[in-house]
Amino acid sequence: MNSNSFAPVIAPPAILAKAPAMDTKTVQAMDSAHYIHSFTDHADLATRGARVMTHADGIYVWDSEGKKILDGMSGLWCVNAGYGRKEIADAAYQQMMTLPYYNSFFQTTNIPAAKLAAKLASLAPSVGDRSFNHVFYSSSGSESNDTNVRMVRRYWDLLGQPQRKTIIGRINGYHGSTMAGASLGGMSGMHAQGDLPIPNITHIEQPYFFENGLPGESEADFGIRAAGWLETKILELGADKVAAFIGEPVQGAGGVIIPPSTYWPEIQRIVDKYGILLISDEVICAFGRLGHWFAYEKFGYKPDLVTFAKGVTSGYVPLGGVMVGNRVADVLIEKGGEFNHGYTYSGHPVACAVALANLELMERENLVGRVKDDIGPYLAKRFAELNNHPLVGLAETCGFAAGLVLVKDKATGECFDSSLGVGMICRGHCFGNGLIMRAVGDRMIIAPPLIMTHAQIDEMMALILRCLDLTAADLK
Ligand code: PLP
Repeated sequence: MNSNSFAPVIAPPAILAKAPAMDTKTVQAMDSAHYIHSFTDHADLATRGARVMTHADGIYVWDSEGKKILDGMSGLWCVNAGYGRKEIADAAYQQMMTLPYYNSFFQTTNIPAAKLAAKLASLAPSVGDRSFNHVFYSSSGSESNDTNVRMVRRYWDLLGQPQRKTIIGRINGYHGSTMAGASLGGMSGMHAQGDLPIPNITHIEQPYFFENGLPGESEADFGIRAAGWLETKILELGADKVAAFIGEPVQGAGGVIIPPSTYWPEIQRIVDKYGILLISDEVICAFGRLGHWFAYEKFGYKPDLVTFAKGVTSGYVPLGGVMVGNRVADVLIEKGGEFNHGYTYSGHPVACAVALANLELMERENLVGRVKDDIGPYLAKRFAELNNHPLVGLAETCGFAAGLVLVKDKATGECFDSSLGVGMICRGHCFGNGLIMRAVGDRMIIAPPLIMTHAQIDEMMALILRCLDLTAADLK
């Protein structure tokens, strides 16, 4: 087909909104009867019916009742470029009409997969003796972390140290939902279902100063102490048994937990001291969320493996992967022979073409630079004002992610009894008032699309304030 015959297939939201659609009740009934959702209590869902999203544009989504909602979570931390980007949809269409699928097994590749690998290698900064020239593809963050487990084990086997099996993660870390992903993560609710973690994965406490800092302790000192829990765990296990440490630069699903600036450099010192691999899970934090293409650059550490997904395609189609640093890649490639691992959709040409279009758009609009120098600092300034609200114990941001803690007593930082579900009350007000803000316990979090203007940040802040006031009124 020639390019003149190409016609975009995406209708603008106004047309979609007018198109004949199923009514909400019909969709809800079908959904409830047949669809098992992620992280959902279905008995509860059946009593209310799912919210049916129908279309989206920019930073807004609409539901089937016509309600317009400001998406403060970029879907699930992924729609970095915002909704309705024609360039991304066009790239998918063109690639589907050219080569919709081929696999990367058995010495085969495709043009978008090779181009994207080179692009990602060029975006990943070298730090010290670590450079990133190689990528392994998957379709999600969870699969990528499964790949990490396999790669880490293969690496140590190839170096003649097969006893180095244990990977250390963190309590309240999130690394996905597969057996390995959920095991690497430290979510107690996930571990409680299905006998997790799997063997050879263990956890240390998270670097959450608000909860774990001692009276009188500085945040900087806490960062060093929290990193020290890794050294204690290594010594407890025996350093020669430890394969890797995995952490999110900023914990996302755990509630936007921002570590003290002293934390990551100390973690680096410890992993270097014991020769342990460092995995930076940047499924949320990469591709501009923290104002950098890759977040390890912000915190100044040198990972060996970097997990990515979500923002690489702005969520338009599934794609994930692992940036493989030279320390691991050199061993796998030079000593490894065939690595018996891969997915049907590794290097999917449509997903890779979409990622290339997304990254190009992000570069053209300087979305990463905007987060670092413009909208990130503006959000930080506006969000800090919430520290004056009587219900807020601490409000903080990192790049274009933010979290605030709802507290019972502002002076002492005393938290609410968890049975009150204050975070869920606040989340309910947010939905009701046209804002998606997520509740993690009593921590309210946002991670909006990176395309926001200052005026839209102001609009979001006004909504947040209103919902905090409504929550406070409910608690009186
Ligand atoms: N790792 C991190 C840090 C995540 O935040 C997530 C998802 O939120 C995952 C891994 C899992 O990614 P996926 O849901 O694409 O499997």
